[in-house]
Amino acid sequence: MGKAIRAWRWLLPLLALLLVVDAQLWSMVQRNREQALQQAREVLRTASQVVLGRAEQTFNIYERTLTGIGEVIGSREGLRPTPDLDLHRLLVRRHAITAGLHLLFLVRDDGSLAEISTEFPAPRLNVSNREYFQASHDNWDGGLHISPAILSRVDDYPIIPISHRLSSDGERFLGVAAAGIDPEALQHLISEQTLPPGFRLTLLLRSGEALACLPRQSDCLAQRWQASPLVQTLLPAAPEGQGDGLRLLDESPGLAAYDSSDRYPLVVAASADLPAVLVPWQHSLAEYLLLGLGSNLALAGITFYAWRQAQRRRQALAELAEANLRLEERVARRTEALTRSETRARLFMNTAMDAVVVIDDESCIVEFNNAAAAMFGYTTEEVLGQSLNLLMPEAEAARHGPRVQAAGTGDASRLAARSLEVMARHKDGREFPVEVTVGSAQIGERRLHVGIIRDIGERKRVEQELQRLATTDGLTGTLNRRAFTGEAERLAALALRHRRPLTLLLLDADKFKNINDSYGHPVGDRVLQALARCLAAQLRTSDVLGRLGGEEFGIVLPETGPEGALEVGERLLAAVRQCRVLVGEGDLGFTVSIGATCLGQESGASLDQAFRLADEALYAAKARGRNCVVLKVPEVAV
Ligand code: GH3
Ligand code: MG
Ligand code: MG
Repeated sequence: MGKAIRAWRWLLPLLALLLVVDAQLWSMVQRNREQALQQAREVLRTASQVVLGRAEQTFNIYERTLTGIGEVIGSREGLRPTPDLDLHRLLVRRHAITAGLHLLFLVRDDGSLAEISTEFPAPRLNVSNREYFQASHDNWDGGLHISPAILSRVDDYPIIPISHRLSSDGERFLGVAAAGIDPEALQHLISEQTLPPGFRLTLLLRSGEALACLPRQSDCLAQRWQASPLVQTLLPAAPEGQGDGLRLLDESPGLAAYDSSDRYPLVVAASADLPAVLVPWQHSLAEYLLLGLGSNLALAGITFYAWRQAQRRRQALAELAEANLRLEERVARRTEALTRSETRARLFMNTAMDAVVVIDDESCIVEFNNAAAAMFGYTTEEVLGQSLNLLMPEAEAARHGPRVQAAGTGDASRLAARSLEVMARHKDGREFPVEVTVGSAQIGERRLHVGIIRDIGERKRVEQELQRLATTDGLTGTLNRRAFTGEAERLAALALRHRRPLTLLLLDADKFKNINDSYGHPVGDRVLQALARCLAAQLRTSDVLGRLGGEEFGIVLPETGPEGALEVGERLLAAVRQCRVLVGEGDLGFTVSIGATCLGQESGASLDQAFRLADEALYAAKARGRNCVVLKVPEVAV
């Protein structure tokens, strides 16, 4: 339906255009026809005028010839009844100088032939019954009379007689001066006019008798047109005229023009057949037809071409629109997929327990998930585009730059994960340890570094607590036996290496069993705790205190020799004696015994040996009555 309407939209203007072009062509054709007719009218009018003019000139010459002869005759008072050689010679001369005359003759008043230019004497002839004689006899105005063609009685040659009345001064009729015009002369006169085919010219007398015809006709002189419209109607109405569809003589109605002389009874009728006139126009009609056909075909072709082009353009546009639609759909699908994948990635990132921070090669933050926001105290908006240094202490930041550089030179195509423990900084300035797993990847033009950050503060605390629990005695808070031994070994090794003195004290609560028995185990525990506090309070920070088991403690005193050992021992004993544990309403005192030994200077001494000596010294102190210190040093040192 739409296609049909579109086709009509092209077809209607085409038809209108064809109509306009064809109308123009048709009007041109009509104009040409009118031009052809106008031209024919012009030819007819001009031809009739020209031929009439020539005829008038010719007949004027004849008239002057005859009047000249008439003057001579008039001066002689008539023609003699006998041949007159002088007159004959006059006729011969005049005949010779007047073209177109077949003969020139004089007729006496009785109609007898007096003289003739062609022979002498003139033959005996009487022409009184001739029309020209009678007309001239009656013609008082002295003008030229022109008669229809006749056969000459002298030589049977066709002539057109013209005559002039000869009269004396007293107007007495003397005779007729006449001439026979050779019809060929008039035929020649009319034939000088060139006419297109189909055109006719007739020189005739006002009374209707033809004198010359163009085209030449053998029976031209025999034609009589007395009853023709020209003679009957037109000439009486107007001396000249012109018209289309006019009938002058016997021709079919066509273009016609006529002209008549006001001096001589001469008329020229010119006519042309309409078909003949229109022959050149008809020839051009074929050209116009071809032109019209050509232009119509060309217009139709151009319109068809334009229509095809428009159709192709419309089709191309439709294809383009469809391609665009498909492209848009693809883009929409891709965008949706991307959005979905981005949403998934974001969901994944934001659901992750660990902080995720993505930076570019310039260390600028490009992604910052919810866990990161919670961990560092910044909102995502605050950190995006900021340097990663914001999230690190200065010292860490100084190390971070080269790390990113190193990652940048790695293999860009794969995400190589590496873990490291670093310090991070919270928005409030607090620093905390984190474990960072770093991966780098080339995404398009950008290289991105993903950091998965885990706060390891709690883990560190647990580790430290475990460490503490592993090395500390649960009841007293001092080092346990294993840790104490380790410390003691370390310090002993140091002392031996640097040949520095070192003292080992072993302490044992006196009669502790009794305390337990008397006050109960919990009181015993509190006594042990009080004892540990009391001992620790007396020691330097470089000294090491440990519970070796039950109610037995060990102390290592670096940089302390035998004198110092005894002195510290005494001081400790005194401090313990002062120590009290509240029991009910009262308080409880207690004592310890101390075994001391020293090592350091002598080579080959070992910690085991020192423990053995200290143990022996402690045993000795117990034996000595308790609440005292006994020093026992290696043999060589004594
Ligand atoms: P001595 O002066 O000879 O050392 O006499 P003593 O009573 O201290 O002798 P002994 O070394 O045999 O007794 C140690 C007692 O210490 C035995 C045990 O019941 C008690 N004891 C060991 N460890 C603890 C403890 O952790 N808490 C309490 N309350 N008592 C303990
Ligand atoms: Mg004991
Ligand atoms: Mg004891």
